[in-house]
Amino acid sequence: MVCKWTPIIVADRCTGCGLCVDACGPKSLAMVDGIAVLTLPDTCGSEEHCIAACRDEAIQMAWLPLSGDGTVGRWSDGAEPRPVPCSDAAQDGNGSSAQ
Ligand code: SF4
Repeated sequence: MVCKWTPIIVADRCTGCGLCVDACGPKSLAMVDGIAVLTLPDTCGSEEHCIAACRDEAIQMAWLPLSGDGTVGRWSDGAEPRPVPCSDAAQDGNGSSAQ
């Protein structure tokens, strides 16, 4: 399984301020119905600028099972030790709040 290091928006914590959207260079995030959403995961560079911008701790990073351009962002095949193993991110439901 191939996973990408991507931001997960915790909808219950998001206040809709939009700071993360402004901080995201490749415009991977957008506001949808007042909540930040990772609308373009393909363009995400896994650089975590959005987390630094969020005042409400509403963004977490996780390895999500994705396919796409392997030269954009951080990718793992699950073989290397990572803070959140790729297989765990796929099983623990972290992806459910990424819309
Ligand atoms: S910076 Fe945080 S609170 Fe503001 S829109 Fe983004 S996720 Fe929501």
